[in-house]
Amino acid sequence: MEINISIFLEKLREEIASYKVPVVELVAVQTRDPFKVLVATILSARTKDETTAKASERLFKAAPDYEALERLTQNEIAQLIYPVGFYKAKAGYLAKLPEALKRFGGEVPQDLDELLTLPGVGRKTASLVLNVAFQKDAICVDTHVHRIMNIWGYVQTKTPLDTEMALRKKLPLHHWQEVNTILVTFGQGTCRPVSPHCDRCVISNLCPRKGIKPRKVSQHKNQKAHPQV
Ligand code: SF4
Repeated sequence: MEINISIFLEKLREEIASYKVPVVELVAVQTRDPFKVLVATILSARTKDETTAKASERLFKAAPDYEALERLTQNEIAQLIYPVGFYKAKAGYLAKLPEALKRFGGEVPQDLDELLTLPGVGRKTASLVLNVAFQKDAICVDTHVHRIMNIWGYVQTKTPLDTEMALRKKLPLHHWQEVNTILVTFGQGTCRPVSPHCDRCVISNLCPRKGIKPRKVSQHKNQKAHPQV
């Protein structure tokens, strides 16, 4: 039987309210600046949120806009963003970014295909920038969204791109913008990739748990969590 996606997302929206906000959202809330959201999103790929946050802060101090970024050498950018994952490649993308943005009058474009022409910007980054910087309807499917949607059996797909295409057909439009934030935050905190914390999950009684091995919970902890009366 298919899950009720709205009930799942509603329960998780409440659940994650107390979790840490993902770094790209934080940059958006703090700055409301599409350039910074774009740069932080590029930096965040395969990098822990704390590392991205510190690297973004250092880089934005030296380069708060694309004109200042253009004045930095690739090597200077690499030093500022180290140790984010693939920092050398990302420094290369960021060094080319100002020139690419000039094609759009120095503004971050608000169109998926235009965003995809920018260096270092794939579908996931482009969709997240549309969601977070411009509040536009796009579905950003990263590893957490792909994984959890398959665990729920809401899609049966092999790749994040297949998941995005499947979600475009069936996920109600009003969930498009929020689904990434909810599932990334939930995936980092509870439904973790290797062994999810099903024992403390708010939707454990509803979740089909397709293809997962829940974390083993010691008897001692279990008794504490569910004392006999
Ligand atoms: S019950 Fe387990 S697998 Fe299902 S959403 Fe919760 S943590 Fe993930």
